[in-house]
Amino acid sequence: MAVTSNDVQKLFLQAILSRRILSQQLAAKIWEKCIEAVKAANETLDIEYRNDRNSWDAFVTKINDALNPLDLEFSRLLDEVNGTEIYGVVNRKGDEIAQMATEYSALEIAYFKAVVEQIMLAPNESFSVSSLAALREVNSLKSSMTKSQAEATLSSFVAKGWLVKSRRGRYSLSTRTILELQPYLRSTYESEITECTICMEIVTRGIACYTPNCQTRMHTHCFNNYRRRNHQCPACKEDWTAGNNLSKLRPVGEAAFKDGQDQGRRRVPRKSTEEQEDADGEGENADEKDDEKDDDVVADPEPSQSEPSGKGKGKGKGKGKKKATRDESMEVDDKDEDEEEDSPPPRTRRKSSRR
Ligand SMILES: [Zn+2]
Ligand SMILES: [Zn+2]
Repeated sequence: MAVTSNDVQKLFLQAILSRRILSQQLAAKIWEKCIEAVKAANETLDIEYRNDRNSWDAFVTKINDALNPLDLEFSRLLDEVNGTEIYGVVNRKGDEIAQMATEYSALEIAYFKAVVEQIMLAPNESFSVSSLAALREVNSLKSSMTKSQAEATLSSFVAKGWLVKSRRGRYSLSTRTILELQPYLRSTYESEITECTICMEIVTRGIACYTPNCQTRMHTHCFNNYRRRNHQCPACKEDWTAGNNLSKLRPVGEAAFKDGQDQGRRRVPRKSTEEQEDADGEGENADEKDDEKDDDVVADPEPSQSEPSGKGKGKGKGKGKKKATRDESMEVDDKDEDEEEDSPPPRTRRKSSRR
């Protein structure tokens, strides 16, 4: 069998499927390597690597032609923290969270969902949760999970790039999660999701307009681009540059979190329990009954003994599948997300105005 230009795609697909999520830069480099490898095998082939946007986009289209029949998509997202262009293979079928079943047990996935829920429902659009609150979520699970199991599972979520842990010890959504689990997030947290006014992607880190009820939210990198040419809020037309208005912009993400805000409080989705949200300060046990119960049953094909601890390098697990993920996803995610710390403190409380 002669090597053909199709082999470039095949090689490339193999590389990205094992990595799941990677920067555009790295993806382009892999593409170049694939071309070199194929040309080395068959010198008569007339293919060439071109380092320009059009060639890249055309290549991505070809890749997606191959992936789409499998309900997969090689999809793109800008990293919320630094605006880096990230690509990943995304399941388009809507059961995307089920893909975690290859690395996690049903219980661990239920735990992941519970932690994600607390992140999505975090007060003040802080989209983050303390380790304490994250650990407390084991109480919401049907089967029991010990504290040390929970700790190990959390570190594994971080190691595999599903969650990010900040220096302050707070958990938030990773780029991988926002990219790969986007349909799940959008359908489950329809009323909590905020979109960037500029790029329309989900915002869990960025800025918010300070005008009461104004819907403007922007990623930091989108905001930086926007304000090069604009002075006004695109929605309420408030002049952001007048006086010290810029400093009034509210942070979205961990910087919006105020100490003590989530102590002893467990958030529940609005749909199931309307007024419990602010009804009491405690209630972690009371709430757990009616919360999300029907929704955490994720098909677990095999009784997978996945990731017994978070320390593992992915060696000798006997599962194989997703090992290579780790390095690349960390490479793109691991950049410090604490930069927002110097943003101004939130001014208003703004709870229900979102939609
Ligand atoms: Zn944006
Ligand atoms: Zn505004």
